[in-house]
Amino acid sequence: MSQRNIHTQNVAGQDIQELFCRALHHGTATHKALLQNGGTAAAGLNAQGRPGDPVTPAIVPSSVYFLPGDPAGPYQYARWTNPTWSALEEALSILEDAEAVIFPSGMAAEAAILCSQPKPGDRVLLPSDAYYTTRVLAETYLVPAGISVLTCPSANYDSQDFAGLRMVWIESPSNPGLDICDIRKAVAKARQAGAIVVVDNTTPTPLGQRPLDLGADVVVSSDTKTINGHSDVVFGHVASRQAGLIAGARDWRKLCGAIPGPFESWLVHRGLETLEVRFERMCGNAEALAPRLAEHRKVQQVKFPGLPSHPAHAVAKSQMLRFAMILGVTLSDKNSAEQFINGCKFIRPTTSFGGVHTSAERRARWGDKVPEGFVRLSVGCEPLEQLWKEMKAALDSL
Ligand code: PLP
Repeated sequence: MSQRNIHTQNVAGQDIQELFCRALHHGTATHKALLQNGGTAAAGLNAQGRPGDPVTPAIVPSSVYFLPGDPAGPYQYARWTNPTWSALEEALSILEDAEAVIFPSGMAAEAAILCSQPKPGDRVLLPSDAYYTTRVLAETYLVPAGISVLTCPSANYDSQDFAGLRMVWIESPSNPGLDICDIRKAVAKARQAGAIVVVDNTTPTPLGQRPLDLGADVVVSSDTKTINGHSDVVFGHVASRQAGLIAGARDWRKLCGAIPGPFESWLVHRGLETLEVRFERMCGNAEALAPRLAEHRKVQQVKFPGLPSHPAHAVAKSQMLRFAMILGVTLSDKNSAEQFINGCKFIRPTTSFGGVHTSAERRARWGDKVPEGFVRLSVGCEPLEQLWKEMKAALDSL
C-alpha cells in the first residue's frame, strides 16, 4: 500500500500542498500591501490595511449594507453576498483551483447543480450505490419535472452506455460501499455524449482527489464532513472552472435563498485551516488500520481503496492522491457490529464521517444495500497506537 500515492498524473502532491498554503494565507499578501500603502477604506469590510486589523475574517451578520443612491459595490443585500462568505469562498477557490460557491449543506450544494442544470426531456445518470439522498432528491423533484433518472453501480460506469445523457453524476469512492469509478474514462465517454460530469468529492476532499484536473465539469462537496472536520456545522460547496455553471449555482442560491449563515461560514473557514494536518493524520491512520483490521480473526472483510485487495485499487491509485479515511469493515452479523462500535472506547456511534473523532455506524440501519454486519468506520485523528489498542480490544472481546 502506498503511504503517499505518487501515481496520479495530473497533479502532484506538492502542488496541492502549495495550493493549501496559499488558501491558508489568502489575504495575507493583500493586507501586507495595504499596510505598506497606508491602508484604504475601499478594500472591503475585512481589509482596512491598518495596524491592529484582525487576522481572522469578520463574522458579518448584517442583513443590509449602507447602500445610498444607485446600487453599487460587492455587498448590497445579504441574500446575495456577504463578506464572511467571501473569505471562505476565496480560500476554497484557491484550494480547488476553481471558483467555489458555498451552501448551507452538502445537499443544498447538490441541489444547486442537480436541480438547476437538467431540463425537461434530459437524462441524468446517478450512482445506485452512492449517498442515497441524492437519488431521493432526483426522484422527488427531477422525475416529476420530466427528467429521466437512470442509475448504475459506480463499479459499472465503464460498461454503462452514456448515449443521450445530459448529466453524469459520480461519487468515488462511493458511500458507503467504497467502490471506485474511473473518472478519466467516465469523462471521456461523457464528452462524446455531450454530458456534463459532476463529482461528489466529499470523501477524498480536494487534498485527496482532484476531479476537475481529471476532466470533470463540477465538484460538489459536503463540507459537514472532513473540510470542516469538527462535527459542529452542516455545510457544502460547489466548484467549477466554467463560468456558466458557477453563475448558475450563484443564481440558484440567490433565488432559492438557500444561503449559509455567517457564523457557519466562519466555522468552516477555521476548520479549513487545519484540513491538511487532519487529513494527513486520518489518511495515515486509515492506511495503517486497514491491514491490521483485515488480519483480525473476527473481521470478515475490509474494503478500502488503498488495499491491494480492493477490486479497483489500481484505478484508485491512478486518480487519488490519498485514499481518505473511511473503511468498510464487515463483521459476522448485526450484533457483532453493534458490539464492536459500542464496545470500543474511541469510536463514537454516529452517522456521518470525516470528524476528528473516530466514528462508526452500521449502514444497513438506513436501508443501504450492505450486509447487516457492515460497519462504515470513519477514522479520526487519534494517535494511531492508542486507537488500534482499543479497536483490537473491542474485536477480541466479540
Ligand atoms: N454527499 C455525501 C457523499 C454525503 O455522505 C453526504 C451526507 O452524508 C452528502 C453529500 C450530503 O451532505 P449534507 O449532510 O452536508 O447535506
